[in-house]
Amino acid sequence: MADEIRLNIDIGVFVTVGPYPVDYLRLDDKFGRVEALSIMKKGIDEAAKLCEEKKCIGIGEIGRPHFYVDKRIIDESNKIILYGMQRAKDVNAPVIIHSESTTPNHCKELVEIGKKAGLPANKIVKHYSAPLILENENYGIMPSVLASKKNIMESINKGTRFLMETDYIDDPRRPGAVLGPKTVPKRTFELIDNGLITEKQAFIIHEQNPEKTYNISLNK
Ligand SMILES: [Zn+2]
Repeated sequence: MADEIRLNIDIGVFVTVGPYPVDYLRLDDKFGRVEALSIMKKGIDEAAKLCEEKKCIGIGEIGRPHFYVDKRIIDESNKIILYGMQRAKDVNAPVIIHSESTTPNHCKELVEIGKKAGLPANKIVKHYSAPLILENENYGIMPSVLASKKNIMESINKGTRFLMETDYIDDPRRPGAVLGPKTVPKRTFELIDNGLITEKQAFIIHEQNPEKTYNISLNK
């Protein structure tokens, strides 16, 4: 898909892949716990291989279902997260975490799993993050904040250490969900035009932060 975009549109594309946490439930139903875990780990291995081959810049979304599940599923998902973090460390890439709502406690828990895996907090991206920008709110993980105006204003009032995302899904049954793909540049220009953020702040958020987090160079 990335190649198709590169061929047809003059734009840079970076890819992350990983076995989607909610799919674990379906695999568990169909094949049972042991086989389901093994399939999820195999998916992570595939993603790690793509990172090694530089076709991909991160492993994710991996994580836990974002809705209520019983403790067994949480425990097994945590094993998958740990494995994903270990493999991410092996290939010097970040993980992108899909999980329940972002709270300071949840961030702390992710950092602790990271410690077990040897993956530093700044290589853990929390996707669909609330505006938890400060170190004492996120314990050093990199928050990827959904680019609603409210979220971004709250984030920018605290600092510039965050990423912006749309969580765009590209599902024909849910057009534009969650936010449309143009939202990040649109929002950024709107904030600059209204004097709510500076170009320097936008540069940190859109260039420095992703470059450091994903070990990439955008300035080409
Ligand atoms: Zn997600």
